[in-house]
Amino acid sequence: MPSLSEETGGRVPALAPGATIGIVGGGQLGRMMALSAKYMGFHVGTLDPTEDCPTAQVADFQIVADYDDTAAIRELAERSDVLTYEFENVDADALDAVRDRVAIPQGTDLLRVTQNRVAEKTFINDHGISTAPWAPVNSRAELDAALGRIGYPAVLKTAEGGYDGHGQIVLRDASDLEQVWPDEDFPPAILEGFVDFAYEASILVSGNGEDHVTFPVVRNIHCDNILHKTIMPAPMDDGMQERARELAVALAKGFALAGTLAIELFVCADGTLIVNELAPRPHNSGHYTIEACDFDQYDLHVRGICGWPLAQPRTLTPAAVMVNVLGQHVAPTREAIAGHPEWHVHDYGKAEAKRDRKMGHITVLTDDAERTVAELDATGCWADITDRG
Ligand code: AMP
Repeated sequence: MPSLSEETGGRVPALAPGATIGIVGGGQLGRMMALSAKYMGFHVGTLDPTEDCPTAQVADFQIVADYDDTAAIRELAERSDVLTYEFENVDADALDAVRDRVAIPQGTDLLRVTQNRVAEKTFINDHGISTAPWAPVNSRAELDAALGRIGYPAVLKTAEGGYDGHGQIVLRDASDLEQVWPDEDFPPAILEGFVDFAYEASILVSGNGEDHVTFPVVRNIHCDNILHKTIMPAPMDDGMQERARELAVALAKGFALAGTLAIELFVCADGTLIVNELAPRPHNSGHYTIEACDFDQYDLHVRGICGWPLAQPRTLTPAAVMVNVLGQHVAPTREAIAGHPEWHVHDYGKAEAKRDRKMGHITVLTDDAERTVAELDATGCWADITDRG
């Protein structure tokens, strides 16, 4: 394996250009990781069931197989010097089984913790960081008891496998209990107090096992639980930015983080920061970093897992707005491109533009985020988005 230096302290052993990075998952996050890896001179392989998937289009090779195909994971491990993943629902046992064949600098603890809401909330609270009040619940009786402590409104979430609001039931009052699973189908779950937040935000932190650097806190606007827009910076003062940075670094240190971790936050009107959830990978809300920062979240993910030194990323613009292009936005945004030379247009190369499927995104660098948001809205391309934050 081409190596830059021997392992030092907690730092991941450094890999030289020419080494091969294997990415489990072949979606847009893997594609943007691969683009960073390629400019640094790494080879890239990806494992994904869809032939010519977004990552494969920019990688050196693809293994076409299901994510949980252990023989395929072994093949990817054998053809790679370092293994990473672009989504969190990877089989941690399957990765552990190939650790004698390939470096997995992110480890599998990070995966196991972020795959399970009970483990995740416990980890966050153990590091002195606030979450919504919560309790594990595995039956209707446990739910009733937890509701007695936490009260309405609350959110019931499956402990595993949920994403973008799937596997969640909002309980506003006792009448919503009708939607709750019967005991025989009750999955391991958690009950969370409903947070009356002012807005949602996120912060990214990247590490190389030893050093940890952060990106600015950004504001996120969702519609139907899918990210619609990210605005950098979030409307918070330097003191709150610093508190967010401190909590991000505390979590990163707890994981001896290598690569990029996203932390989703609820920001309350009184300035309280509450962690909602973690994603052990680059994140949709960090796409803006590609144009707005000197090192983006993908560069730092690749550098981190390859044991390279990390500089604190700098923003190159006073503000930036990133807006997702879902299936229903492809046709109108393509028509609008001609009139918007300021748009940084990203298209993930997906074959089929299904409704609500993330097909691409657009980033605009600006000195006035509010004006840019108004201009984007005025194009009418996102006319179906009802929640404008
Ligand atoms: P999650 O899958 O946990 O990220 O939740 C999806 C979305 O549901 C979040 O982005 C919030 O908009 C909303 N949500 C989740 N948990 C809570 C909560 N405890 N209080 C208020 N809103 C929540």
